[in-house]
Amino acid sequence: MGKVGTEIVKVDVQGLLGELNKALADEWLAYYQYWVGAKVAKGRMRPQVVAELTEHANDELRHAGMLADRIMQLGGTPILEPKEWYNFTNCGYSTPSDPSTAALLNQNIEGERCAIKVYSKILDFVKGKDEITEEIVREILKDEIEHEEDLESILEDLS
Ligand code: FE
Ligand code: FE
Ligand code: MG
Repeated sequence: MGKVGTEIVKVDVQGLLGELNKALADEWLAYYQYWVGAKVAKGRMRPQVVAELTEHANDELRHAGMLADRIMQLGGTPILEPKEWYNFTNCGYSTPSDPSTAALLNQNIEGERCAIKVYSKILDFVKGKDEITEEIVREILKDEIEHEEDLESILEDLS
């Protein structure tokens, strides 16, 4: 834990740690939803959908790493128990029980829309008050916006 690194943060650090851990739970659930979705996907444009879902899964895992590193810097502990993901999550988990490519795309678009709202809220909270978290959240938000648009475009090509 960085003493001065945490002192310069001009927001309630415990509150921020709570939000970062909730986002961390979202990222792990999003990672698995994409990852397993890519495994079970069936139907039209399967290869392209699998490639996109796999790419997004990797992005979500990278986001989880960025959040966990920042949580550690701020003197917190990243969620240690996977079963806690369900208690912390903002965006939940959509079981890909319908493996059709269109259904998977729709589920993941919903997830991205939720993620965009979550990160936009955290960004408002830290803006000008914690520049390091601000930079991390800005980078993640940019990816989530790209994810939403990528999935929407593939869905449009499908229909
Ligand atoms: Fe993400
Ligand atoms: Fe995403
Ligand atoms: Mg993409």
